[in-house]
Amino acid sequence: MKANLKIDITVKEICDGFEYNEFEGKGLFGLAGKLTIQPEYQRNYIYALGDGKKEMAVIESVLNEYPIGLIYFNKVSKDKLEVLDGQQRITSLGRFITQKFAIKDKDSGNMQLFEGMAQDKKNRILNTKLTIYVVEGSESEIKEWFKTINIVGVPLTEQEKLNAFYSGPFVTLAKEEFSNSKNAKVQMWSAYVKGVVERQAFLERALDWVSKGNIDYYMSNHRYDKNITELKKYFNKVIDWISSIFEDVESEMCGLEWGRLYEEYRSKSYITKKVSERKNKLYSDPYVIDKKGIFEFILGGSKDYKLLNVRLFETATKRSAYASQTKTAKTKNKSNCSYCAIGHEANKSKIWAFNQMEADHVSAWIKGGPTTAMNCEMLCVPHNRAKGNR
Ligand SMILES: [Zn+2]
Repeated sequence: MKANLKIDITVKEICDGFEYNEFEGKGLFGLAGKLTIQPEYQRNYIYALGDGKKEMAVIESVLNEYPIGLIYFNKVSKDKLEVLDGQQRITSLGRFITQKFAIKDKDSGNMQLFEGMAQDKKNRILNTKLTIYVVEGSESEIKEWFKTINIVGVPLTEQEKLNAFYSGPFVTLAKEEFSNSKNAKVQMWSAYVKGVVERQAFLERALDWVSKGNIDYYMSNHRYDKNITELKKYFNKVIDWISSIFEDVESEMCGLEWGRLYEEYRSKSYITKKVSERKNKLYSDPYVIDKKGIFEFILGGSKDYKLLNVRLFETATKRSAYASQTKTAKTKNKSNCSYCAIGHEANKSKIWAFNQMEADHVSAWIKGGPTTAMNCEMLCVPHNRAKGNR
Protein backbone atom coordinates (compact mmCIF):
# COMPACT_ATOMS: atom_id res chain seq x y z
CA MET A 1 0.00 0.00 0.00
CA LYS A 2 1.46 3.38 -1.09
CA ALA A 3 0.78 6.59 0.82
CA ASN A 4 1.41 10.21 -0.22
CA LEU A 5 1.19 13.02 2.30
CA LYS A 6 -0.70 16.15 1.22
CA ILE A 7 -0.62 19.25 3.38
CA ASP A 8 -1.87 21.88 0.94
CA ILE A 9 -5.55 20.99 0.54
CA THR A 10 -7.78 23.57 2.22
CA VAL A 11 -11.18 23.21 3.88
CA LYS A 12 -12.54 25.39 1.07
CA GLU A 13 -11.35 22.94 -1.58
CA ILE A 14 -12.51 19.90 0.36
CA CYS A 15 -15.98 21.40 0.76
CA ASP A 16 -16.26 22.50 -2.89
CA GLY A 17 -19.45 20.90 -4.17
CA PHE A 18 -20.30 19.41 -0.77
CA GLU A 19 -23.73 17.91 -0.54
CA TYR A 20 -25.39 16.40 2.48
CA ASN A 21 -28.02 13.73 1.91
CA GLU A 22 -30.62 14.23 4.66
CA PHE A 23 -32.47 11.07 3.82
CA GLU A 24 -29.51 8.75 4.07
CA GLY A 25 -27.75 10.83 6.71
CA LYS A 26 -24.46 11.17 4.91
CA GLY A 27 -22.15 13.64 3.24
CA LEU A 28 -21.67 12.83 -0.42
CA PHE A 29 -19.03 14.71 -2.41
CA GLY A 30 -16.19 17.19 -2.13
CA LEU A 31 -13.19 18.50 -4.07
CA ALA A 32 -15.49 19.65 -6.88
CA GLY A 33 -16.86 16.15 -7.33
CA LYS A 34 -13.51 14.34 -7.30
CA LEU A 35 -13.95 13.12 -3.74
CA THR A 36 -16.55 10.62 -2.59
CA ILE A 37 -17.05 11.30 1.10
CA GLN A 38 -19.02 8.21 1.94
CA PRO A 39 -18.26 5.10 -0.02
CA GLU A 40 -20.73 2.30 0.64
CA TYR A 41 -18.55 0.58 3.22
CA GLN A 42 -18.33 3.67 5.39
CA ARG A 43 -20.62 4.18 8.30
CA ASN A 44 -23.37 6.75 8.56
CA TYR A 45 -22.64 10.24 9.79
CA ILE A 46 -22.80 10.10 13.56
CA TYR A 47 -21.26 13.37 14.73
CA ALA A 48 -24.67 15.09 14.64
CA LEU A 49 -26.19 12.52 17.02
CA GLY A 50 -27.27 13.62 20.47
CA ASP A 51 -26.82 17.35 20.75
CA GLY A 52 -24.31 17.63 17.92
CA LYS A 53 -21.42 18.36 20.30
CA LYS A 54 -19.02 16.37 18.16
CA GLU A 55 -19.62 18.29 14.96
CA MET A 56 -19.44 21.61 16.81
CA ALA A 57 -16.13 20.52 18.33
CA VAL A 58 -14.67 19.98 14.86
CA ILE A 59 -15.46 23.59 13.87
CA GLU A 60 -14.22 25.00 17.18
CA SER A 61 -10.95 23.10 16.75
CA VAL A 62 -10.44 24.59 13.30
CA LEU A 63 -11.27 28.09 14.56
CA ASN A 64 -8.76 27.67 17.37
CA GLU A 65 -6.20 26.31 14.93
CA TYR A 66 -6.03 22.97 16.71
CA PRO A 67 -5.26 19.99 14.49
CA ILE A 68 -8.25 17.77 13.73
CA GLY A 69 -6.13 14.73 13.03
CA LEU A 70 -4.97 12.77 10.04
CA ILE A 71 -7.30 12.15 7.17
CA TYR A 72 -6.92 9.27 4.72
CA PHE A 73 -8.11 9.21 1.13
CA ASN A 74 -8.03 6.21 -1.14
CA LYS A 75 -7.01 6.94 -4.73
CA VAL A 76 -9.52 4.97 -6.80
CA SER A 77 -8.44 6.24 -10.22
CA LYS A 78 -6.58 9.22 -11.69
CA ASP A 79 -9.30 11.71 -10.76
CA LYS A 80 -11.28 9.83 -8.14
CA LEU A 81 -10.69 9.79 -4.41
CA GLU A 82 -12.64 8.23 -1.58
CA VAL A 83 -12.47 9.07 2.11
CA LEU A 84 -11.10 6.11 4.04
CA ASP A 85 -10.84 7.81 7.39
CA GLY A 86 -12.06 11.33 8.15
CA GLN A 87 -15.57 11.09 6.84
CA GLN A 88 -17.10 12.38 10.07
CA ARG A 89 -14.76 15.36 10.27
CA ILE A 90 -15.16 16.31 6.60
CA THR A 91 -18.93 15.99 6.82
CA SER A 92 -18.91 18.25 9.90
CA LEU A 93 -16.98 20.89 7.95
CA GLY A 94 -19.24 20.56 4.91
CA ARG A 95 -22.39 20.69 6.96
CA PHE A 96 -21.23 23.79 8.79
CA ILE A 97 -20.27 25.67 5.64
CA THR A 98 -23.60 24.75 4.04
CA GLN A 99 -25.50 26.14 7.05
CA LYS A 100 -26.71 22.81 8.45
CA PHE A 101 -25.83 23.67 12.05
CA ALA A 102 -24.64 26.57 14.20
CA ILE A 103 -21.90 26.92 16.76
CA LYS A 104 -21.72 29.07 19.86
CA ASP A 105 -19.83 32.31 19.26
CA LYS A 106 -17.18 32.69 21.95
CA ASP A 107 -17.47 36.49 22.21
CA SER A 108 -21.24 37.03 22.08
CA GLY A 109 -22.40 33.64 23.39
CA ASN A 110 -24.97 33.46 20.58
CA MET A 111 -25.49 30.51 18.26
CA GLN A 112 -24.08 31.39 14.90
CA LEU A 113 -24.33 29.94 11.41
CA PHE A 114 -21.38 30.09 9.03
CA GLU A 115 -22.87 32.88 6.89
CA GLY A 116 -23.39 35.10 9.91
CA MET A 117 -19.77 34.94 11.07
CA ALA A 118 -17.22 37.72 10.78
CA GLN A 119 -15.29 37.51 7.51
CA ASP A 120 -11.93 36.87 9.21
CA LYS A 121 -13.36 33.86 11.05
CA LYS A 122 -14.95 32.55 7.87
CA ASN A 123 -11.61 32.85 6.11
CA ARG A 124 -9.80 31.14 8.95
CA ILE A 125 -12.02 28.11 8.50
CA LEU A 126 -11.92 28.09 4.70
CA ASN A 127 -8.15 28.51 4.49
CA THR A 128 -7.29 25.86 7.05
CA LYS A 129 -5.07 23.19 5.50
CA LEU A 130 -5.78 19.61 6.34
CA THR A 131 -3.24 16.83 6.75
CA ILE A 132 -4.18 14.12 4.31
CA TYR A 133 -2.63 10.83 3.33
CA VAL A 134 -3.62 9.63 -0.12
CA VAL A 135 -3.19 5.87 -0.22
CA GLU A 136 -3.15 3.52 -3.17
CA GLY A 137 -3.51 -0.22 -2.87
CA SER A 138 -5.58 -3.27 -3.65
CA GLU A 139 -9.13 -3.47 -2.35
CA SER A 140 -8.26 -6.24 0.08
CA GLU A 141 -5.21 -4.39 1.46
CA ILE A 142 -7.26 -1.29 2.07
CA LYS A 143 -10.20 -3.14 3.57
CA GLU A 144 -7.98 -5.11 5.89
CA TRP A 145 -6.45 -1.86 7.05
CA PHE A 146 -9.81 -0.15 7.39
CA LYS A 147 -11.12 -3.04 9.46
CA THR A 148 -8.34 -2.64 12.00
CA ILE A 149 -8.25 1.13 12.46
CA ASN A 150 -10.27 3.00 14.96
CA ILE A 151 -11.37 6.43 13.94
CA VAL A 152 -10.15 9.04 16.41
CA GLY A 153 -12.67 9.74 19.14
CA VAL A 154 -15.36 7.25 18.21
CA PRO A 155 -14.21 3.66 17.81
CA LEU A 156 -16.03 1.57 15.24
CA THR A 157 -18.66 -0.79 16.55
CA GLU A 158 -18.30 -4.48 15.77
CA GLN A 159 -21.05 -4.26 13.17
CA GLU A 160 -19.50 -1.19 11.51
CA LYS A 161 -16.28 -3.17 11.07
CA LEU A 162 -18.18 -6.12 9.62
CA ASN A 163 -20.01 -3.80 7.22
CA ALA A 164 -16.66 -2.50 6.00
CA PHE A 165 -15.22 -5.96 5.69
CA TYR A 166 -18.15 -7.50 3.82
CA SER A 167 -19.06 -4.44 1.79
CA GLY A 168 -21.09 -5.16 -1.30
CA PRO A 169 -24.67 -5.12 -2.57
CA PHE A 170 -26.01 -7.03 0.44
CA VAL A 171 -24.61 -4.59 3.01
CA THR A 172 -25.78 -1.62 0.96
CA LEU A 173 -29.38 -2.93 0.85
CA ALA A 174 -29.31 -4.05 4.47
CA LYS A 175 -28.14 -0.62 5.63
CA GLU A 176 -30.88 1.08 3.64
CA GLU A 177 -33.45 -0.93 5.60
CA PHE A 178 -31.91 -1.29 9.05
CA SER A 179 -29.48 1.61 9.50
CA ASN A 180 -31.67 4.38 8.28
CA SER A 181 -33.09 6.58 11.03
CA LYS A 182 -35.60 8.00 8.52
CA ASN A 183 -37.18 4.56 8.14
CA ALA A 184 -40.61 4.96 9.76
CA LYS A 185 -40.46 1.42 11.17
CA VAL A 186 -37.46 2.19 13.37
CA GLN A 187 -39.70 3.80 15.98
CA MET A 188 -41.74 0.60 16.30
CA TRP A 189 -38.67 -1.64 16.30
CA SER A 190 -37.01 0.38 19.04
CA ALA A 191 -39.57 -0.99 21.50
CA TYR A 192 -37.76 -4.33 21.23
CA VAL A 193 -34.30 -3.53 19.88
CA LYS A 194 -31.77 -1.57 21.89
CA GLY A 195 -29.08 0.72 20.52
CA VAL A 196 -28.49 3.51 18.03
CA VAL A 197 -29.75 2.81 14.54
CA GLU A 198 -26.92 4.79 12.90
CA ARG A 199 -24.35 2.77 14.82
CA GLN A 200 -25.76 -0.36 13.15
CA ALA A 201 -27.45 -1.74 16.30
CA PHE A 202 -30.63 -2.69 14.43
CA LEU A 203 -28.81 -4.24 11.51
CA GLU A 204 -26.68 -6.18 13.97
CA ARG A 205 -29.79 -7.51 15.71
CA ALA A 206 -31.50 -8.44 12.44
CA LEU A 207 -28.40 -10.34 11.34
CA ASP A 208 -27.99 -11.93 14.75
CA TRP A 209 -31.54 -13.27 14.68
CA VAL A 210 -31.55 -14.65 11.17
CA SER A 211 -28.08 -16.18 11.55
CA LYS A 212 -28.74 -17.54 15.06
CA GLY A 213 -25.71 -15.64 16.27
CA ASN A 214 -23.33 -16.35 13.36
CA ILE A 215 -23.28 -12.86 11.85
CA ASP A 216 -19.81 -13.16 10.33
CA TYR A 217 -20.65 -16.40 8.57
CA TYR A 218 -23.99 -15.14 7.33
CA MET A 219 -22.51 -11.93 5.94
CA SER A 220 -19.77 -13.72 4.07
CA ASN A 221 -22.30 -16.16 2.56
CA HIS A 222 -24.67 -13.45 1.42
CA ARG A 223 -22.11 -10.80 0.56
CA TYR A 224 -22.94 -10.68 -3.16
CA ASP A 225 -26.70 -11.24 -2.85
CA LYS A 226 -28.72 -8.61 -4.65
CA ASN A 227 -31.60 -8.85 -2.19
CA ILE A 228 -32.13 -8.99 1.57
CA THR A 229 -35.42 -10.88 1.42
CA GLU A 230 -34.55 -13.55 3.97
CA LEU A 231 -33.07 -11.05 6.44
CA LYS A 232 -36.08 -8.75 6.22
CA LYS A 233 -38.63 -11.55 6.37
CA TYR A 234 -37.12 -13.18 9.42
CA PHE A 235 -36.73 -9.91 11.30
CA ASN A 236 -40.34 -8.94 10.60
CA LYS A 237 -41.55 -12.39 11.63
CA VAL A 238 -39.88 -12.03 15.04
CA ILE A 239 -41.26 -8.52 15.52
CA ASP A 240 -44.78 -9.60 14.49
CA TRP A 241 -44.57 -12.59 16.80
CA ILE A 242 -43.65 -10.43 19.80
CA SER A 243 -46.35 -7.86 19.16
CA SER A 244 -49.01 -10.52 18.60
CA ILE A 245 -48.31 -12.13 21.99
CA PHE A 246 -47.59 -9.07 24.08
CA GLU A 247 -50.20 -6.42 23.36
CA ASP A 248 -48.70 -3.53 25.23
CA VAL A 249 -45.13 -2.41 25.11
CA GLU A 250 -43.15 -2.27 28.36
CA SER A 251 -39.75 -0.61 28.58
CA GLU A 252 -38.24 -3.86 29.92
CA MET A 253 -38.99 -5.53 26.59
CA CYS A 254 -36.29 -3.51 24.89
CA GLY A 255 -33.12 -5.48 24.31
CA LEU A 256 -34.38 -8.93 25.34
CA GLU A 257 -33.07 -11.91 23.40
CA TRP A 258 -36.11 -12.00 21.14
CA GLY A 259 -34.43 -14.04 18.44
CA ARG A 260 -33.73 -16.88 20.85
CA LEU A 261 -37.17 -16.60 22.46
CA TYR A 262 -38.82 -16.75 19.04
CA GLU A 263 -36.97 -19.92 18.11
CA GLU A 264 -37.72 -21.51 21.46
CA TYR A 265 -41.42 -20.66 21.77
CA ARG A 266 -42.70 -19.98 18.25
CA SER A 267 -44.60 -23.29 18.03
CA LYS A 268 -46.61 -22.61 21.20
CA SER A 269 -49.90 -20.78 21.12
CA TYR A 270 -50.85 -18.01 23.50
CA ILE A 271 -54.06 -16.20 24.29
CA THR A 272 -53.15 -12.54 24.07
CA LYS A 273 -55.72 -11.42 26.61
CA LYS A 274 -54.57 -13.96 29.21
CA VAL A 275 -50.93 -13.10 28.58
CA SER A 276 -51.73 -9.46 29.14
CA GLU A 277 -53.54 -10.17 32.43
CA ARG A 278 -50.71 -12.33 33.71
CA LYS A 279 -48.11 -9.80 32.69
CA ASN A 280 -49.96 -6.97 34.46
CA LYS A 281 -50.31 -9.02 37.60
CA LEU A 282 -46.61 -9.82 37.70
CA TYR A 283 -45.76 -6.19 36.98
CA SER A 284 -47.77 -5.02 39.98
CA ASP A 285 -46.34 -7.71 42.27
CA PRO A 286 -43.78 -6.11 44.57
CA TYR A 287 -42.10 -9.49 45.10
CA VAL A 288 -41.10 -9.82 41.46
CA ILE A 289 -37.65 -8.25 41.36
CA ASP A 290 -36.69 -9.02 37.77
CA LYS A 291 -39.30 -7.48 35.49
CA LYS A 292 -37.28 -8.38 32.38
CA GLY A 293 -37.77 -12.04 33.27
CA ILE A 294 -41.56 -11.78 33.14
CA PHE A 295 -41.72 -12.23 29.35
CA GLU A 296 -39.78 -15.46 29.15
CA PHE A 297 -41.54 -16.68 32.31
CA ILE A 298 -44.90 -16.31 30.59
CA LEU A 299 -43.69 -17.71 27.27
CA GLY A 300 -42.39 -20.79 29.09
CA GLY A 301 -45.76 -21.48 30.71
CA SER A 302 -45.20 -19.66 34.04
CA LYS A 303 -42.98 -22.36 35.52
CA ASP A 304 -39.46 -21.06 35.76
CA TYR A 305 -39.58 -18.86 38.84
CA LYS A 306 -35.86 -18.24 38.75
CA LEU A 307 -36.50 -15.86 35.86
CA LEU A 308 -38.46 -13.55 38.13
CA ASN A 309 -35.98 -13.49 40.99
CA VAL A 310 -38.83 -13.44 43.53
CA ARG A 311 -38.05 -11.72 46.80
CA LEU A 312 -37.62 -14.19 49.64
CA PHE A 313 -38.73 -14.12 53.26
CA GLU A 314 -36.72 -11.95 55.63
CA THR A 315 -34.72 -13.75 58.32
CA ALA A 316 -36.80 -12.13 61.10
CA THR A 317 -39.98 -13.48 59.50
CA LYS A 318 -38.49 -16.95 59.29
CA ARG A 319 -37.28 -16.86 62.90
CA SER A 320 -40.66 -15.91 64.29
CA ALA A 321 -42.43 -18.57 62.20
CA TYR A 322 -39.87 -21.12 63.39
CA ALA A 323 -40.34 -20.15 67.06
CA SER A 324 -44.12 -20.39 67.08
CA GLN A 325 -44.19 -23.59 64.99
CA THR A 326 -41.61 -25.29 67.22
CA LYS A 327 -43.41 -24.26 70.41
CA THR A 328 -46.72 -25.77 69.22
CA ALA A 329 -44.97 -28.88 67.89
CA LYS A 330 -43.28 -29.56 71.22
CA THR A 331 -46.52 -29.36 73.20
CA LYS A 332 -48.14 -31.86 70.80
CA ASN A 333 -45.01 -34.05 70.66
CA LYS A 334 -44.96 -33.79 66.89
CA SER A 335 -42.35 -32.68 64.38
CA ASN A 336 -42.02 -28.95 63.79
CA CYS A 337 -42.17 -29.71 60.06
CA SER A 338 -45.84 -30.17 59.26
CA TYR A 339 -45.02 -32.61 56.45
CA CYS A 340 -42.89 -34.79 58.73
CA ALA A 341 -45.61 -34.67 61.39
CA ILE A 342 -48.17 -36.37 59.15
CA GLY A 343 -45.65 -38.81 57.70
CA HIS A 344 -44.96 -42.36 58.74
CA GLU A 345 -41.23 -42.18 59.13
CA ALA A 346 -39.01 -41.87 62.10
CA ASN A 347 -39.09 -38.09 61.68
CA LYS A 348 -42.73 -37.87 62.82
CA SER A 349 -41.76 -36.18 66.06
CA LYS A 350 -38.43 -34.76 65.01
CA ILE A 351 -37.66 -31.19 66.06
CA TRP A 352 -35.55 -29.68 63.30
CA ALA A 353 -33.06 -26.91 64.04
CA PHE A 354 -33.66 -23.51 62.45
CA ASN A 355 -30.82 -24.00 59.95
CA GLN A 356 -32.24 -27.38 58.91
CA MET A 357 -35.43 -25.73 57.70
CA GLU A 358 -36.46 -23.46 54.87
CA ALA A 359 -39.29 -21.01 54.42
CA ASP A 360 -42.24 -21.97 52.31
CA HIS A 361 -45.22 -19.94 51.15
CA VAL A 362 -48.31 -21.54 52.70
CA SER A 363 -50.32 -20.48 49.70
CA ALA A 364 -47.92 -20.62 46.81
CA TRP A 365 -46.57 -17.26 45.77
CA ILE A 366 -47.68 -17.71 42.17
CA LYS A 367 -51.29 -18.21 43.30
CA GLY A 368 -51.13 -14.88 45.03
CA GLY A 369 -49.55 -15.84 48.35
CA PRO A 370 -47.74 -12.84 49.83
CA THR A 371 -44.24 -12.96 51.32
CA THR A 372 -45.41 -11.99 54.81
CA ALA A 373 -45.22 -13.73 58.21
CA MET A 374 -48.84 -14.88 57.91
CA ASN A 375 -47.96 -16.83 54.81
CA CYS A 376 -44.63 -18.19 56.01
CA GLU A 377 -44.22 -21.78 57.07
CA MET A 378 -40.91 -23.42 57.88
CA LEU A 379 -40.42 -26.88 56.39
CA CYS A 380 -37.51 -29.25 56.76
CA VAL A 381 -35.09 -28.94 53.85
CA PRO A 382 -35.97 -32.31 52.22
CA HIS A 383 -39.69 -31.60 52.29
CA ASN A 384 -39.34 -28.04 51.07
CA ARG A 385 -37.13 -29.08 48.18
CA ALA A 386 -39.55 -31.89 47.30
CA LYS A 387 -42.45 -29.46 47.30
CA GLY A 388 -40.67 -27.30 44.81
CA ASN A 389 -42.98 -24.44 44.01
CA ARG A 390 -41.93 -22.18 46.92
ZN1 LIG B 1 -40.28 -32.53 56.92
